Amino acid sequence: MAIILDGRKTSKEIKNEAAQKAAELKNKGIHPKLVVLLIGENPASNIYVRSKERACKKAGIISETRRFPDTVTQNEIIETILSLNSDKSVHGILVQLPLPKGFDEEAVIEAVDPVKDVDGFHPVNAGRLASGVTDNFFAPATPAGIIELLLRYDIETEGAHVVIVGRSSIVGRPLGMLFLRKTRGANATVTICHSGTRDLSAHCREADILIAALGRPCFITGDMVKPGAVVVDVGINRIQDEESPKGYRVVGDVDFKSVSDNASAITPVPGGVGPMTIAMLLKNTIEAAFNSRSNKGV
Ligand code: NDP
Repeated sequence: MAIILDGRKTSKEIKNEAAQKAAELKNKGIHPKLVVLLIGENPASNIYVRSKERACKKAGIISETRRFPDTVTQNEIIETILSLNSDKSVHGILVQLPLPKGFDEEAVIEAVDPVKDVDGFHPVNAGRLASGVTDNFFAPATPAGIIELLLRYDIETEGAHVVIVGRSSIVGRPLGMLFLRKTRGANATVTICHSGTRDLSAHCREADILIAALGRPCFITGDMVKPGAVVVDVGINRIQDEESPKGYRVVGDVDFKSVSDNASAITPVPGGVGPMTIAMLLKNTIEAAFNSRSNKGV
């Protein structure tokens, strides 16, 4: 039976560390501040933004959410971002995605000053990560959370074959780049699979560390996993469940039962990668506030 990589417990440790650092900064006259821009009425985004606000507050980070109706123009949003860029009291700026129809996501993200881009989606941060540097950039929170979780459980990544299923720009692709870095908690051999990959199962069975980030409920089954592999389930999928009071339940991209019989370690859903994401956002915001002190760019 696999050991459980407990994202809830680990994320609490990271949040506590962020709170300690926020207190240190406050003693030096800097109060870390994150501003989130939320455009339109997307129920899932509303939930995420509220959790971010709560987590910031608990860690002693000022969190401000600027809400806009979906009738706001792209220019107004970009103007807001530019004024936040020059506001010295703001250390992190996050534009909650997805944006409503008609917005050019790239143009909006590119307006954020890379030193305040705590989401790590700005091309300068993505480019630095892709160029192989080991620091001086913000990594997107979900992939960074996966690396941190493995590190804190002493999972050996050095020389390991990591197979990632999914190549999105927010999870699979940056995660591949993070694992490739020549540094502690990385230095792996990386394969990234996607919907065009031939014989996906064969690739998965080669993995010492298998990452499922494809958005298909319970897709990865026990027979696709090498005995003893470490399995990280990024997926968050709602499936119908008449027995649940809500009428649905949340499952990952991994079939937990069959895979946990085969794997040496596994992240649960919920309680695995999900909680790590917000913890890493706090970590990035604190780092942005520290950087602002020395005027050091990311
Ligand atoms: P996307 O839909 O953006 O990307 C999915 C990727 O999986 C694509 O690269 C796609 O290939 C690939 N894929 C889809 N179906 C298959 C298949 N049958 N075989 C092989 N590859 C396939 O998803 P995200 O990266 O945004 O999210 C992935 C999952 O992670 C979702 O369940 C999402 O909810 C969850 N998530 C969880 C987070 C957390 O905090 N825990 C944060 C972000 C996401 P192609 O490129 O060819 O289309």
